[in-house]
Amino acid sequence: MSDRTDLVIVGAGILGLAVAREALLRDPGLTVRVVEREDRVGTHQTGHNSGVVHAGIYYAPGSLKARLCVEGARDLYAFCAQHDVPVERCGKVIVATSAEEIPGLDALEWRGRQNGVPGLRRLDRRELRELEPHAEGVAALHSPATGIVDFPAVARALAGEVIERGGRIALGCVVTGVDSRPDEVVLQTSAGEVVARHAVFCAGAWSDRLAIAAGAPADPRIVPFRGAYLRLRPERRDLVRSLIYPVPDPALPFLGVHLTKHIDGDVLVGPTALMVGARDAYRLRRVRPRDLAATLAWPGTFRMARRFWRTGLAEMGYAANRAAFVRAAQRYVPELEPEDVLPGPSGVRAQALGRDGKLVDDFVISHTGRALHVRNAPSPAATSSLAIARLIADRAQEAFGLRARTDNDRREAAHGAA
Ligand SMILES: Cc1cc2nc3c(=O)[nH]c(=O)nc-3n(C[C@H](O)[C@H](O)[C@H](O)COP(=O)(O)OP(=O)(O)OC[C@H]3O[C@@H](n4cnc5c(N)ncnc54)[C@H](O)[C@@H]3O)c2cc1C
Repeated sequence: MSDRTDLVIVGAGILGLAVAREALLRDPGLTVRVVEREDRVGTHQTGHNSGVVHAGIYYAPGSLKARLCVEGARDLYAFCAQHDVPVERCGKVIVATSAEEIPGLDALEWRGRQNGVPGLRRLDRRELRELEPHAEGVAALHSPATGIVDFPAVARALAGEVIERGGRIALGCVVTGVDSRPDEVVLQTSAGEVVARHAVFCAGAWSDRLAIAAGAPADPRIVPFRGAYLRLRPERRDLVRSLIYPVPDPALPFLGVHLTKHIDGDVLVGPTALMVGARDAYRLRRVRPRDLAATLAWPGTFRMARRFWRTGLAEMGYAANRAAFVRAAQRYVPELEPEDVLPGPSGVRAQALGRDGKLVDDFVISHTGRALHVRNAPSPAATSSLAIARLIADRAQEAFGLRARTDNDRREAAHGAA
């Protein structure tokens, strides 16, 4: 039996849920259905990340990331206050450990100021020590607006609001095929067909497959990068007061191994960034032949590997050797020892990789017929989710004049379904 709706959203991660809420806020008459393969919301990236509300420092001025992170962080703090979601504006420091890293720190400060990040302040060694007594560096950048949050709790609060506003969320429902017709989008799912006037795909690690099924180009491809964390022993948590980050490699879209206090009091060290053989490789050894084949067959993979083989080797070293992993953080917290850490959780980044071998840096939203596709939404997309949702709703209005059905549409739909 087919189920008809104005708007179907694939994926109940933080983005899909934020888009569903935004659509219902704009048009309470819209029928909205979210379809999610797992039996909980926020299972994948939304539930496996650093839990940091980024302030918008790192991103190229004028990029979507820059604009939507600054706006999204502001909106997220307000949303958490309204919905009693645990959040703390604890601030963060980015530490330059040597004079060679100062130009990198300068570049970050310049970007942060261009992007309108509030409260940025340059610190000398003594001021860094006042904020983070165990951190060591020649200079640092302090961002008081950066915070920590429970992103799965944000996803649950969004889901609650979607349901309250009349939306429906189908859990345990896998989309297996997409049929893009001139007047509707038909999804084949494990629970039957869903027929929608419009669709928004927010499928994270699986977004390229669904986009291609809907008629979009193969470029870019999602390549999974596993991020592993270590956890500080509870008695060593006092090594870190808030968040301590290195100056990242500007050639990579990852921020480097950092020390992150979590909203539940835990302190994590990580994440690493290792290309893996499954889009859900929460265990390092998990390999899914289809995922691995898709990565290996993609021309961009080898082009990227040629460029970043040294980084790849270092990442393999972190995976194989805990002491090497700890050393990455020891550079700026020298007291940290391998005995201070325990194994921690992991996440898998859905990172888009172009055919040309370039890791796609900015958020990418593309369009086919009656659907929009989020094709690259890595960090800071959780922070930016409410602002990305507004952008998607604007694009949906531009692209296909998204609106609720009129009585006439409803009569026709009822007639068609009979
Ligand atoms: C290690 C790591 C650290 C990070 N740290 C941060 C951070 O500190 N701050 C920050 O802002 N961001 C961070 N991020 C990024 C952030 O987690 C993601 O950008 C964000 O969660 C993306 O949300 P999403 O809804 O697009 O994806 P997801 O949460 O992955 O949701 C996609 C959903 O689509 C569903 N789906 C896929 N295919 C189908 C199908 N065929 N049928 C039905 N459902 C389907 C999946 O089951 C999933 O629930 C981090 C990410 C990782 C991995």
